[in-house]
Amino acid sequence: MFTRSRRNLAYWFALSMGGILVLFAGVSYYLSVEGQLQAFDQALYKKSKAIASGATIRLHRGQWQIEPEEAPWLGSDRLSRSSDLVYVRWYNAKGYLVRFIGLPAPIRLTAVPEFQTIAIAGSQGGEPSSQWLRQITLPLLQNQQLVGYLQVAEPLTPLRESLDRVRLYLALGVPVTLGIIGITGWFLGGIAMQPTRRAYDQLQRFTADASHELRAPLAAVLSNAQVGLMSPEDSAQQHLRLEKIVETAKSMSALISNLLFLSRREGALALESLKPVDLVALLRSLIHDQTAQATTQGLTFTSQLPEQAVTLNADPDLLKQAVTNLLSNAFKYTPSGGNVQLRLSTTSRHAIIQVEDNGIGIPAADLPHIFERFYRVDTARSRQTGGFGLGLAIAQQIITAHRGRITATSTVEKGSTFQIELPLKG
Ligand code: ADP
Repeated sequence: MFTRSRRNLAYWFALSMGGILVLFAGVSYYLSVEGQLQAFDQALYKKSKAIASGATIRLHRGQWQIEPEEAPWLGSDRLSRSSDLVYVRWYNAKGYLVRFIGLPAPIRLTAVPEFQTIAIAGSQGGEPSSQWLRQITLPLLQNQQLVGYLQVAEPLTPLRESLDRVRLYLALGVPVTLGIIGITGWFLGGIAMQPTRRAYDQLQRFTADASHELRAPLAAVLSNAQVGLMSPEDSAQQHLRLEKIVETAKSMSALISNLLFLSRREGALALESLKPVDLVALLRSLIHDQTAQATTQGLTFTSQLPEQAVTLNADPDLLKQAVTNLLSNAFKYTPSGGNVQLRLSTTSRHAIIQVEDNGIGIPAADLPHIFERFYRVDTARSRQTGGFGLGLAIAQQIITAHRGRITATSTVEKGSTFQIELPLKG
């Protein structure tokens, strides 16, 4: 499932990026053709202007006559080797050929005065081939009067070669870049899938753990009920079995409530469900409820609360539940004769609640995991005390929903301190 999603992500990434790349390559090629042709035309224009300015134009019997320059580089009937030109042609104002150098010329001027790309037939290595030329036809003016035309042509070979090179680079570069884009897409797809994968794994682990936790008590209920039905026992035995069933069903009910709590109360709390709460009063009532439990377990339970009220916006029932979970853990994991202390203090912006015990403590390796759902340091001991490994996960979820923070420090055999940090009412 994840591989398919990752492949899809990589595919769409490569497709969109590839599309942009091909478009970009096409536009670059077009701009390169435009730019090079413009430079080529400019050079050709300059050359033809130089030739035009070298010609002598004079009036002879009422007609303008053009006498081309007898420059050595032009030659008399052939273009010199150093010249790139294929032909130079002069026409009079009526469009009749006056003179040409290079390739033979038509008697009448056919082209309009502008740049043109034309193909001429030739042969290369005995094979017939065509050569592409760029031709310019320039009107010759004397005193603002048209006296003739100059036509010059140059092969497009260097331009074609340069464009062939650009095409080759693009033909090699585009597939290579597409390959890199594909690999990057696959890699990014992996990164993008990570949170989903983690959430999915967590959910799967949670479901497996929850089912596992429910299976054991359910089996106990079933076996007790089946044995009770099978053998005709005395009423005392029957009573014992029924008591066991009730006890197990209660524990299952508690587990289900915890699971429901965790699944329903995900995320931050809605502002309208919060109300101003005096933390001192809330903790005082909690101490009152819990003292009996501590005494039964032979523990000394003390508290340190400020005199004045500490107000914050909270859901009082949820806050009570979070602190109760910390206190009942402290009672559970502190042997008889130990001490448990509940403290409340404030900083400029936060209320700090601390639950400290001198109990069995938590090994350093387990400390980073204790807030995970179903995590228990000592499974046997925890189960014995009726724990599912959900108490701290619930406390953390409640505190996070109040935009607070819960942390723990502990030393094995010395004790643990759990700290809740909550933002004060602004
Ligand atoms: P449980 O219901 O098993 O107590 P919790 O989520 O409340 O589950 O706690 C997770 C684990 O953290 C417990 O199983 C226990 O091993 C450890 N733990 C929590 N609080 C204390 C504490 N005050 N002292 C020692 N160990 C603790």
